[in-house]
Amino acid sequence: MTEIGASLKRNGERLGLVPTMGYLHEGHLSLLRLLDGKCDIKSASVFVNPIQFGKGEDIERYPRDEARDVERLVQSGCNLVFCPDATSMYPRGYQTYVDVTGLSEPLCGKYRPGHFRGVATVVLRLFQITHCSTAAFGLKDYQQALVIRQMVRDLNLDVELVFGSTIREPDGLAMSSRNAYLSKEERIAAQAIPRALKWAESHADKGNKTPVEIRNGINEILMSEPLLKPQYVEIVDVDTLMPVSGEIRRVLVAVAVYAGSTRLIDNQVIGPESECNLLKKA
Ligand code: AMP
Repeated sequence: MTEIGASLKRNGERLGLVPTMGYLHEGHLSLLRLLDGKCDIKSASVFVNPIQFGKGEDIERYPRDEARDVERLVQSGCNLVFCPDATSMYPRGYQTYVDVTGLSEPLCGKYRPGHFRGVATVVLRLFQITHCSTAAFGLKDYQQALVIRQMVRDLNLDVELVFGSTIREPDGLAMSSRNAYLSKEERIAAQAIPRALKWAESHADKGNKTPVEIRNGINEILMSEPLLKPQYVEIVDVDTLMPVSGEIRRVLVAVAVYAGSTRLIDNQVIGPESECNLLKKA
């Protein structure tokens, strides 16, 4: 891959990259479409990155189907699929990690220590290996998008970032490879997550609720489902991810919720000025 990437670059061909952990769905494929017109070769990586999983997390059971992934990617116009194994990404003696300090700390960072260090490290490795000029990320993982944007800025990486909005199932649940874990009952209960975010959106637009009231309302909707257990519900600044207490103009509502033993995340930018600026330009 390094050789291919370097030779494409030498020949002036721009490589676009969609980093994924596989078990692909429409959310991943939508990112591939975002690369249209931005590059000459569209590529995706499929790699379940061990260093972004904590102890006791789901790395062992994370769903995998490489053959199906490659087929779906090729059908969607992907020219090159990179599926490294863990020992080539982190050979014996590997020692270098990327720590994006501030943005990695709140929200998921509080509950998954080391997660964003693993994410930033693998993304930088993928950028270096592929020599990509553009990379696409989904706002389903909003905090991850900000962490990567910060890394690109801080390290002066020559990679253009594009971000795609969250692709949802017809009933509103954000698409995720982890949805495959859900039982029928948990899958139905999980519909309360997008419902709670929609509720927050409509009340924030009216401007008649404080962040605390919005947070309580979301928690109430989530907890009305016995199979759901919220891990966090936060109303934060869209750029800094710090808690917001005053008037809601444009804020991020971010939630992590257990449906049975499956941890799901979702988010929504809300408020009268809620158009997400990440969608416009990195
Ligand atoms: P993952 O395979 O879960 O690591 O995701 C790979 C990329 O796809 C990340 O940039 C995610 O943010 C993005 N992604 C995952 N799910 C969705 C979704 N439902 N809509 C849009 N992008 C998504």
